[in-house]
Amino acid sequence: MIRTAPTSQVPRAPRDVVLAVCVATALLLASGWLNWQAGHEVDAALQTLRTAQAMEAAVQRVLTLTTDAETGQRGFVITGDRRYLQPHDAALARIDAALQELQQLSADDAQAGPRVAALAAVALVKRDELRQTLALRREQGFKAARIAGATDLDLQTMAEMRGQVAALAALAAARTSAALATVQGQQRRAAAAGWATTALALAATLGLGVLATRNRRSAAQLAAQRERQRLYSVVDSMQAFVGVLAPDGTLIEVNDAPLRAAGLQRHEVIGRKFWDCWWWAYDPAVQQRQRQSFERACAGETLHFDETIRVRGEDGQDARAVIDYSLRPVFVDGVLTMLVPSAINITERVQAERALREIEKGTRERAEEMQALMAALPVAVFIARDPLCEEILGNPHSYQLLGMQEQTNVSASAPGDQPLRRPFQEFRDGRRLDRAELPMQRAAREAVDVNLEELSFVFADGEVKHVLGSARPLRDADGGVRGAIAAFVEITDFRRAQEQLRQRDLQLREADRRKDEFLATLSHELRNPLAPLRTGLQLLQQTTDPATATQVRKMMTRQLLHMVRLIDDLLDVSRITSGKVVLRLEPFSLRAAAELAIESARPLMEASRHTLVCEFPAEDLWVQGDLNRLAQVVGNLLTNAAKYTPPDPHGQGRIVLKLQAHGDQALISVSDNGLGIPPLLLDEVFGMFTQVDRTLDRAQGGLGIGLALVKTLVQMHGGTVIAASEGVGQGSVFTVTLPRLGTGAERAPHGPTPAVFGVAGACRVLVVDDNRDAADSLAALLAAAGHTTRMAYSGHGALAEARVFDPDWVLLDIGLPDLDGHEVAQALAADPRLCRGRRVAVSGWGSEADRERSQGAGFAHHLTKPVDPAVLLSLLAAAPR
Ligand code: ADP
Repeated sequence: MIRTAPTSQVPRAPRDVVLAVCVATALLLASGWLNWQAGHEVDAALQTLRTAQAMEAAVQRVLTLTTDAETGQRGFVITGDRRYLQPHDAALARIDAALQELQQLSADDAQAGPRVAALAAVALVKRDELRQTLALRREQGFKAARIAGATDLDLQTMAEMRGQVAALAALAAARTSAALATVQGQQRRAAAAGWATTALALAATLGLGVLATRNRRSAAQLAAQRERQRLYSVVDSMQAFVGVLAPDGTLIEVNDAPLRAAGLQRHEVIGRKFWDCWWWAYDPAVQQRQRQSFERACAGETLHFDETIRVRGEDGQDARAVIDYSLRPVFVDGVLTMLVPSAINITERVQAERALREIEKGTRERAEEMQALMAALPVAVFIARDPLCEEILGNPHSYQLLGMQEQTNVSASAPGDQPLRRPFQEFRDGRRLDRAELPMQRAAREAVDVNLEELSFVFADGEVKHVLGSARPLRDADGGVRGAIAAFVEITDFRRAQEQLRQRDLQLREADRRKDEFLATLSHELRNPLAPLRTGLQLLQQTTDPATATQVRKMMTRQLLHMVRLIDDLLDVSRITSGKVVLRLEPFSLRAAAELAIESARPLMEASRHTLVCEFPAEDLWVQGDLNRLAQVVGNLLTNAAKYTPPDPHGQGRIVLKLQAHGDQALISVSDNGLGIPPLLLDEVFGMFTQVDRTLDRAQGGLGIGLALVKTLVQMHGGTVIAASEGVGQGSVFTVTLPRLGTGAERAPHGPTPAVFGVAGACRVLVVDDNRDAADSLAALLAAAGHTTRMAYSGHGALAEARVFDPDWVLLDIGLPDLDGHEVAQALAADPRLCRGRRVAVSGWGSEADRERSQGAGFAHHLTKPVDPAVLLSLLAAAPR
């Protein structure tokens, strides 16, 4: 602050006073000493004077007394009157006393002593003389005494005595004069000293007065300064920043706090423009703000704002502090006299506030995250904030789970007479739970964790939701339970899936059982045709009767067809279930498919003497599909109708094949008046290996896969198939529904391939198969049809034969022992002499992959075993030599 003297300077006024007092005291002491000295000398002089006067008086007394004694002596001598002796004696006695006094006064007196002694001696002489005269008087009378007393000696003694008295008197007078002179001199000196002392005293008094006045003033100043100093101490010890600015912005005073904080000396900032001082000079923007606030304060405004200043950190590096800053102008009589900046360091407060804000922000964010989490969680979360769990609130999912409005209390322990209207009740293992048994209540009451308990919420409308839940007690700072929290995961779908899995498992077991039955059936069904075939063969070998042979051949053909159909179905099942069937889609009339199907089923229907009724609409029903596959579908249905309608010699078995349009759909229905199907099995019959009655004659039965194929193929065409029956013995109706094409669709070129047994042009055919019977029989068949044939039974044999024979067609089995069919085909294709012969794969393998592989090896066609002779002959006929 405003410092007029250094804080360490001793005040001047008290020192002056002390000096003045010292001088005055010294003067007074000097004056006193002089006075004492003078007094001492005066005392000595007076003592001398008194001694001289006493001595003079004693001397005079000795003389006088001697005279008195002499007078008394003379009186006695003259008169003899003894009365004269009394004065005489008295005088003598007093002379002794006077002489003793003189001796005392002159003791140690070099001048007076001898003279007193001389006087005493003379006096003694005189006394003797008197005594002798007196003695004469008394003894000898007057005369003698008068003579003795009238001697010269007596006169002489008296003269001497007088001389001694005079000398002593003179000595005493001289001493008296000297003493008087001394006293007078001392009196003059004393007077002078007195005046001088007085003058000094006056001067001292005056000086002291002046000094006292000055001192009084200095004391006031001193007090004020001390007061100010104390103020400085207080201000300097303050943590706050206080300063004083001149009206031009110059910093003229500042307390210690900001200097300490900045590690600055006072002179480094005093005298500078305030905004240029070190605290602000780290940032021009801050300086600018200071300058502007100064200007606003000069205009009379008191400013108050937070500011960031530069300080020195504990490590000596620059640091920042936040201050609560104010700048107040001070006007005296309307004139700006100074400005007072002040500030307190609020860094810790700001940091604390910032930390608090961070904590609040963090808390808010955590709460928001928690809220978002709660909202997003596909888990029901519940919380109770009271130890009895009387109020339980949940996240949105929990209310969805429970079918309750959000924010409502879902607690089963809610207080009050009226229980909450909860639309559900909790069960565990089929038993309704008391509220005390619920997980949250248990966790809170027993202060235990409840882990993964399964509950069921059973709703009023009968819906059941299964949940898996855990609960935890919530504790307060003292460890007491203050509530509970729980999370429930709905496992209804899981339980449902589990149930489905269980069902599926049952189904799989059932399917497995069916498969076993199927295999038994398959072997049975495959073996069935073999027996008549073998018998037929034997018959053919033995009989010579053409009629019998023809009948046997028909029987064998029928059995063979049945076997082929079984095997075709099996192959189809395999291909369809593995998703390898590709439909060759084309628009065609359903009538075409129906006719193809009738052709395939006719033998069986004829054998059973069933009546087939076809109800076709006048106009064609066009669909987009694979003609052969749909023909297969209808054929299967017709075959089933034939199989499951008992043969009747009177033709009572009646099968109706009906095509009809129904909106944009085309319907194919096959109905019969046969065995019918129990209602419960109407859907089941489309399952793989499902057969209603296994006790049925297997020859009429099948493998239980025909309807499964039908269903899959129809679905691949975007259609449906359903079975209907009035019950056992009531006949059945199978209806296929397919999307129908518009009437403008063009009919695809197709048509049932006519069986060609006549030969338009004979071909040279090489048949290759390691199964000699297969090769020979096929070659015989072709030869019977007019073609020229050769056989080979191995890959190399085929190549050798081909070079010699130069075939138009090579029918190649794929599974040959040396070179396989693909290798033979490739070798043939690579030989320019042989490459004109078209190659046909004849294989037991008929999947798409097998066909593609054959195509890749250069085969023109791929036929599956057993080869349909009609198909093969048509093929040869279509591309004769
Ligand atoms: P299958 O080879 O046994 O004929 P399908 O899959 O074709 O196999 O038929 C399954 C079962 O459906 C048959 O075993 C039979 O019990 C029953 N079924 C099919 N068609 C008819 C029908 N028209 N009348 C009565 N039962 C039928």
